[in-house]
Amino acid sequence: MRIARFTTGEDPLYGVVTGELDEFGQPDPESVIVALAGDPLYVGVKLLDQEHKLEDVRLLAPVLPRSKVVGIGRNYAAHAAEMGNDVPTEPLMFLKPNTSVIGPGDPIFYPPQTQNLHYEGELAVVIGRICRDVPPEQATDVIHGYTIGNDVTARDLQKLDGQFTRAKGFDSFCPLGPWIETDLDPHDFSEGRSVQTHLNGDLVQNGSTEDLIFDIPTLVAYVSSVMTLLPGDVILTGTPEGVGPMNVGDEVEVSIAGLGTLTNKVALR
Ligand code: MG
Repeated sequence: MRIARFTTGEDPLYGVVTGELDEFGQPDPESVIVALAGDPLYVGVKLLDQEHKLEDVRLLAPVLPRSKVVGIGRNYAAHAAEMGNDVPTEPLMFLKPNTSVIGPGDPIFYPPQTQNLHYEGELAVVIGRICRDVPPEQATDVIHGYTIGNDVTARDLQKLDGQFTRAKGFDSFCPLGPWIETDLDPHDFSEGRSVQTHLNGDLVQNGSTEDLIFDIPTLVAYVSSVMTLLPGDVILTGTPEGVGPMNVGDEVEVSIAGLGTLTNKVALR
């Protein structure tokens, strides 16, 4: 099931998106979104007698992280190498504030403090219930679903600061969407799903989730051994090789096979 958050100009609602995705991760033009009563994270899936054509609604970030977005650095060997880094011996964790989250179609704002703003297309895991010290074999039980993320990074500030808070923490630096797919399990990603980023239509990242150094159950176990995870918290699983700069006016699309495509443009505030 694909769960989105949307507005028709009124208060935001959650909804279930129907229809198939094409090979580029775009939904069938006939797709509709069936509205739900409340947030399915907390009240389950309760269909309302209200549906809209997908093209008639504006999609919003499909989840509002309750407390945090946990990023994982250097989780693809080829990306670690392109940045001149070794592969870590255990997951490299950092935080993005929940205020960095934006939805599909929302602008990524180019801050005046950087001259080198990068995209990082990533698979995002959405946590479904409060948990800590989750054994890897029980990770599936605490995962609500999967979406697409862009771990936007001011690369010059990351190097300058020697840590990631400023470089990855600006408002709008965590596009998420277009929806949460709830019918997959971590094994589906271990077998390999493509993670692709296009910049202005050009393919710039072309990875596969089978190349994750630390797989999803390992990440859930690791992160939850440090901090309690809450419903709606997000874990970004790392980016494949091919990161690079974006400029004002650029359009960046991150696609994951079977999940869809997340599109945003870069703008000045
Ligand atoms: Mg990243």
